[in-house]
Amino acid sequence: MNKITLNKGKDKAAWQLHPWVFSGAIANIQPGISNGDVAAVYNCDNEFIAYGIYNNSSRVAVRLLEWDPNKEINEAWWRNRVKKAVGHRRHLLRDNNDTVRLIFAEADFLPGLIADKYADFISIQVHAAGVERVKAIIVDELAIQLAPRGIYERSDLKSRDYEGLPDTNGLLWGELPPEFVDIIENGIQYQVNIIEGQKSGFYCDQRENRALTAQYVQGKNVLDCFCYSGGFTLNAFRQGAAAVTSVDSSALAIETLKNNVIRNGFDTLKHTAVHADVNKYLRQLGEEGAKFDLIVLDPPKYAPSRSTLEKASRAYKDLNRRGLLLLESGGLLATFSCSGAMDIDTFKQVLAWAALDAGKEIQFIRQFSQPEDHPVRASFPEGEYLKGLLVRVV
Ligand code: SAH
Repeated sequence: MNKITLNKGKDKAAWQLHPWVFSGAIANIQPGISNGDVAAVYNCDNEFIAYGIYNNSSRVAVRLLEWDPNKEINEAWWRNRVKKAVGHRRHLLRDNNDTVRLIFAEADFLPGLIADKYADFISIQVHAAGVERVKAIIVDELAIQLAPRGIYERSDLKSRDYEGLPDTNGLLWGELPPEFVDIIENGIQYQVNIIEGQKSGFYCDQRENRALTAQYVQGKNVLDCFCYSGGFTLNAFRQGAAAVTSVDSSALAIETLKNNVIRNGFDTLKHTAVHADVNKYLRQLGEEGAKFDLIVLDPPKYAPSRSTLEKASRAYKDLNRRGLLLLESGGLLATFSCSGAMDIDTFKQVLAWAALDAGKEIQFIRQFSQPEDHPVRASFPEGEYLKGLLVRVV
C-alpha cells in the first residue's frame, strides 16, 4: 500500500474526518505513487489515519475516503458508496418528482463526484483524478441501481484544471439524451438540456425553496430575477400568481423558460420574459416606478472564495437594495446566496445593510437552505453553500 505521512501538527483535520489534506500538510510521500492512486495516510508517529486518493497537481493533495483501516478501497467499496448515496434519495423520486442529486461529492463520501438524475437520464461530473479512474465502476453501479436510459458526462468544470484533468463531455452508458429531456419537479414539467445547459442542466437544489416561496404568491404580482429555466416562475404560476415577470441574461435560458410556461399550460398573457442584466433592469424598473408584491433574487455565486467575500457582500447588498426599493409595505423578498463563503449570519447582515440603504424596515420571516439530496457532512462544513431569507418589508 502506498504511504503518505503528514507533518507534525498537521493531522488534526484528518482525525476529525475532514476529507481534504492540503499539500502543505504532507511530510513524506512514498516514491512511485501516481496521481489517482489510493494511499494510506499516517501521522508523524506512524499511526494510520485514513485511506485517500492522491493527486500532486491539486491543492487538495489527498482526498480522504475511508477511516476504517480494515476496509479495502476496491471495486466493491466504490459500488457500496454509490448504492448507499442512491438509497438515501429513493423516497424523493415520486410521481411528481423525477429529478434529484444522487451523489453530492464529499457529502456522500465520494469526493470529486456529482451525479444528478433527470427523469430517465443521469448526468455526472468528475473533478478528481482518483474518481476518474473508477468512473466505469461508478457508471455501471448507477446503471444497476437506477436502470436509466443513458448516463452522460458533463465534466467541463474549472476545478478539473486544478486536478490536471481535461474537459470531458460525452456519453458513458446507454443512449444519448435528446436535446431536451422532459423532467418533472414539484409536479411541474421542464425541459432540461443536459448536454448544453448551465451547470448540469437544472438547479435541483432549489426544489424545496421554489415550493416554499410559491406559498406566498396567490393573486400577487411576482418578479423572478435570475430565473434560468423558470423554477420560481412556474411554481408561482402553479400557486396562482396573478402575473410573473422573469429576468435572465442568458438567451437560451429565456427561450427554455418560455417553452416551459407553455408546456405547463400557464397563461402566457400573465407572463413577461425579459432578456436583460438584472442589475440594469432593476434600476430601470425603479426609474419607471414599478412595484411588485414578491421578488425572487437567485443570483449566481458572487463569492467563489473567502478572499472575495467582502467584494461579493457589496454586490449582494446592492442587488438586494434594488430589490427592496421595488416592494411596497407588506411586500416579500425571497433572496438567496449560493456562495459557500457567505454564511447565513453574514447574509442577514448584508440584508440589514441593504434595508438601511433602501430606507426600509424589514423582518426575516423564513430561512431557506439546501435540500436533503445536498446533505452537509458535519466534518465538511464547506459542503453547505445554499442559503436564503424570506424578508418582509414592514
Ligand atoms: N433561479 C434559477 C436558477 C438561477 S441560476 C432556477 O430556479 O432555476 C443563476 C442565473 O443567473 C443563470 O440562469 C444565469 O444566466 C443568470 N445570470 C447571471 N448573471 C446575470 C445577470 N447579471 N443578469 C441576469 N441574469 C444573470
